[in-house]
Amino acid sequence: MRIAIIGAGPTGLFLAAALARRGHRVTAVDRDPGPAPDGWRRRGVMQFHHAHAFRGQVPDALEAELPEAHAAWLAAGAEPIDVTLPDGRVVRGGMRSRRETFERVLRAVVGARPGVELRCDHVEAVTFDRAGRADGVRVGRAHLPADLVIDASGRAGRVTRPLRGPAAVTGRTGIAYVDRQYRLHDGAEPGPMTNLIAWQADLDGYQVIIFLHERGIFSVLIVRPVDDPDLVGLRHEAAFEAACAAVPGLATWTDPGRSRPITPVLAGGELVNRYRGQAGPDGAAHRGLIFAGDAVCTTTPMFGRGITTSFLQARELLRLLDRHGDDLDPVPAAFDAWCETHMRPWVEDHVRMDDATVRRWAGEDVDLTRRLPSDLIMAAAAVDPEIAPALGPYLGMLAGPASLDAVEPRAAAVYRSGWRPPPAEGPGRRELAEIVRGVLAAA
Ligand SMILES: Cc1cc2nc3c(=O)[nH]c(=O)nc-3n(C[C@H](O)[C@H](O)[C@H](O)COP(=O)(O)OP(=O)(O)OC[C@H]3O[C@@H](n4cnc5c(N)ncnc54)[C@H](O)[C@@H]3O)c2cc1C
Repeated sequence: MRIAIIGAGPTGLFLAAALARRGHRVTAVDRDPGPAPDGWRRRGVMQFHHAHAFRGQVPDALEAELPEAHAAWLAAGAEPIDVTLPDGRVVRGGMRSRRETFERVLRAVVGARPGVELRCDHVEAVTFDRAGRADGVRVGRAHLPADLVIDASGRAGRVTRPLRGPAAVTGRTGIAYVDRQYRLHDGAEPGPMTNLIAWQADLDGYQVIIFLHERGIFSVLIVRPVDDPDLVGLRHEAAFEAACAAVPGLATWTDPGRSRPITPVLAGGELVNRYRGQAGPDGAAHRGLIFAGDAVCTTTPMFGRGITTSFLQARELLRLLDRHGDDLDPVPAAFDAWCETHMRPWVEDHVRMDDATVRRWAGEDVDLTRRLPSDLIMAAAAVDPEIAPALGPYLGMLAGPASLDAVEPRAAAVYRSGWRPPPAEGPGRRELAEIVRGVLAAA
């Protein structure tokens, strides 16, 4: 088949290589020109330079479909995180890497792959034949004919918006974050970790996370409610550094004796949870056109799930295309059904958690009239150890959010007893806002 892919981000690149490997001729069109000698700006993918964590499913997918990219990623410094299970088996828990390191490698390997053309251009529209089947894309004034069009244009892609029905799950989260990358000094030990991927602390009214990347590089994130005008000031370097010094866990990592900043402070916009199926405005999936990756679902990044959900989708799509061969017609609806079952629950899980988090930050108590959000179920394991065995599969995304339903009543009992997760050590939001105000006033 001739396959046109809109977008050469992680989803488009991965699919391009895997489909070419199956003998298809693939053109992935992306307006981004790729890395330049002075860096890679990656306009249009705002999160590119922000912190990314990689779950085990990402290297697993590469090993299965594109082993040379996996090898090149390791050669570029990515560090595998291995987990030993209680039965002694060792499984891949994730990969420590920056997004830029990952995507540079992926792009270089996929671009060199026979059967893949990476074209730098802007897709203006998907084109349809008289029978209503997608038959290619318009790139500038040219028509790129295709038997199958895959829209991997990400969360910000606009080109297919008129072709899509309303999002099934969507919502402003009321959450934003700022982050900055640091590098450990030679020989310096990393600071404390909460799990294999991150160190995380919930303070009174906000959250902080550290993601460890490759070669001693790490990101510090301060996650805040968007409606707090003072915390917007964290985007200023002096305010960010003062906040790092004030939160004991962050102070340990960012101590000048241990590490130094290597980027400016990066401020992101409000985070979004969204799930969109394959349906067009008339409610039916298109023929010859499939949406994948962030074009289907996006989740707030505190759990680092986006590239995993994108690659899980890509692998399912490959499985369906393998199964149906030349008969593409059943694929969009079959893929949609899979996404409804396997992707949508993650977005709903994030909506529930983020909504409850913002309410708690605003001073509301835990709402015991509804199913508890997953993060509160996990927190309750500190009091009721019977909850703990359910958490591993959920955290590893080996079982969906519904896998926590079995222990939710136990967690609810913990909260009904009056227990609440104690805020981590450090200034509460009001005190943090004062610190930021003070620093900015003195500047
Ligand atoms: C702040 C933030 C932090 C995140 N952190 C993590 C994390 O820690 N771990 C994780 O797994 N995920 C994380 N994610 C999610 C992750 O970044 C996305 O899941 C991932 O980028 C999805 O890849 P994609 O290829 O589907 O889309 P994108 O990466 O958005 O790529 C889409 C591509 O399409 C191109 N494009 C769009 N329209 C057109 C057009 N008309 N013509 C030509 N080209 C076009 C764009 O230029 C872009 O290159 C984070 C997201 C955010 C917002």
